[in-house]
This record gives sequence, structure tokens and C-alpha cells, in this order.
Amino acid sequence: MIEQSILEITSDLSRANKIVIVPHKGPDGDAIGSCLALYHFLKEKGHSVQVIAPNDFPQFLKWLPGSEDILIYENKVEQCNKLIEEAEIVFTLDFNMLNRAGDMVDVLTASNASFIMIDHHPEPSDYANHTYSDSTMSSTCQMVYKFIHKLHGLKLITPEIATCLYTGIMTDTGSFKYRSTSSETHRVIADLIDKGADNAKIQHLIYDTFSENRMRLLGVALQNLKVIKELKTAYITLSQEELDKNNFRKGDTEGFVNYGLSLEGIVFAAIFIEHKAEGIIKISFRSKGTYSVNDFARAHFNGGGHLNAAGGKSELSLENTEIKFNSIINEYRDQLVNL
Ligand code: 5GP
Ligand code: MN
Repeated sequence: MIEQSILEITSDLSRANKIVIVPHKGPDGDAIGSCLALYHFLKEKGHSVQVIAPNDFPQFLKWLPGSEDILIYENKVEQCNKLIEEAEIVFTLDFNMLNRAGDMVDVLTASNASFIMIDHHPEPSDYANHTYSDSTMSSTCQMVYKFIHKLHGLKLITPEIATCLYTGIMTDTGSFKYRSTSSETHRVIADLIDKGADNAKIQHLIYDTFSENRMRLLGVALQNLKVIKELKTAYITLSQEELDKNNFRKGDTEGFVNYGLSLEGIVFAAIFIEHKAEGIIKISFRSKGTYSVNDFARAHFNGGGHLNAAGGKSELSLENTEIKFNSIINEYRDQLVNL
């Protein structure tokens, strides 16, 4: 982020009282962690701040400090619209295309607030007044730490803020193992532990919380795993019926896609999950090395993301989505076999 922007943002912040912070639809640990960290920081600085998420977030994040203050747009449309209309500054965190805000797009587009984007996805669109975009960063939480640093606010990082930032960095890096984990990531994490993030407790609260239903759903997912060895590809399908049978709750399938990628010789993994109510199949893609699932998701499944982690959707049936996927990956045969 250029210094001029920081000066302008500092000056905007000194004048603005009402601030709204928005994560992407289907918010994950990095989205909620970054929003809550910034929420606590700006509140400490005396602003009136509200986090508004387009839709609900997973149960395993509901212990995060401040999570009880988050408003869910689809549950409180009128109240949220009013807050957005009155906001002087809107931060959009962990996404870079306004349509990732789901049903909030219209009210955000109509807003006169100054928009500040903080995000680590490639190819940002240019809706914001200030765009802090860096696709080399492990997570938006790492960027919020840097942002606070640039605002000379490191001394204001409380144990609550440290906990939120630690959680987002941890979940977006697969507990510090993905390629995006740099020495700087570890330095930031070290400082967050010094500032009060309880690392072992956070790992436990996020990862050791499988319900019996969730564990059994994982069993179904692994039974459904299909491996296409010659294309170094593996994928999982989950139908609405299978979800219902195991009392699916938001967040239950988080991380399932990684099992495909952990198979020896597999470089491309996907999971297709039926959402009957929305009439879509939600898809997650993961890859290793230089194979870009961001490009793949953008080109074929109306989505996007990062080089090695992306998502998208399909309006076909689950069966036809699977057929479409199988036919498309054949076109990538040369790329996949040479990886
Ligand atoms: P996940 O598979 O965990 O839902 O998402 C992986 C990555 O892809 C995240 O960075 C997420 O923001 C991005 N992503 C997931 N779904 C979509 C989508 O429908 N559109 C776009 N543009 N990005 C997505
Ligand atoms: Mn992220």
C-alpha cells in the first residue's frame, strides 16, 4: 500500500465516525478473523464500528471475541441497509470482487462511503477508493496486521485482536503449511503470541470440534471420493440427501477437499456440494504447484480465488456438474500430466 494512501486513510479515519466492515459471503476464518480484528482496533480508536456479514458463518468460529456482535445481513436486511447507508467508511475484507458480498452488492454499490479494500486474492477489481491488495500475503489477517502497523497501532493490539488475527492466518495457511507461509508470516505469528494469542488453545478450538455428525459426513465424503490417477485428479461429491442424513451444519465440510489433495500423486482436487435451496452446486478447488485453480474456476465455474485454492458454482444438477467437470479436465490433460 502506497504511503500516500496511508496518509489519506489516516485523514479519512480522523474524520469518520461510522464505519462498516464487510467480509465475503460464506465467510471463513480469515474473513471473520480479519473483520473482528479490525473491528476491535477501530473501536479502541473511538469509532462506531459494525461488522456485517452477507450470511452466517461456521459454528467453529463463534467463540472468536466479538463474533456475537456481528450482524448477518440476510437476517436483518433493513437494519443493515441503514447502517451501510449511514457509514462514512466501508472496509471490504478478504475479497476483491463486489459480487462476493452476495445480496449486499446493491446497497454497497449505492453507498457514498469511502471504500477500503484489504485483500490477498489476485486480480482485484477497482470498486474501492483505496485498494490494499497483495496476493503474496498468506491471508487478509496478515495484511490487517501490516495495516495496523502502518497506522502505528501495533501497541494497541490486545489479546482479543491477536487471537482474531492468529486464527485467520492459521486457517488460511492450513496451520502454516501452505506455500503462502513466509518467514514474515512466522514473525507476525510470533508477535501475535507475544501479544496474547494462545496458540494451542486456538488450534484446539478450531480443529478439535468435530461433532459426531460431521465426522460421519466426512466418512460419506471419503466413500464418495473418485480418483482419476492418469489426470492426477481426485474429487468428492456430496448430495443434499447425504448432507441432510448427517444433519449438515454450515462449516461441516470445511477442509474435506484437502483429503483428495493429500493422496500421493494427486495435484488437483475438488469437492462438489449440492445446495438444493439455492439451486446450485458449490465447488471448492485445490491444487499443488503451478496449476492454477483460480484460472480454472474463473473459466468454467463462475468463480475464482488463489493459484492453489479457489471456489465456484454450477447451476447444473450434481450429476451433470460431475459430467461437465470430467469432460473439462480432459482438456487439461497435457498440463496435468506434466506437473
Ligand atoms: P473455499 O473453497 O474454501 O470456499 O474457497 C477457497 C478460495 O476461493 C477462497 O479464497 C475464496 O475466497 C475463493 N472462492 C470460493 N468460492 C468462490 C466464488 O464463488 N467466487 C470467487 N471469486 N472466489 C471464491
Ligand atoms: Mn483469505
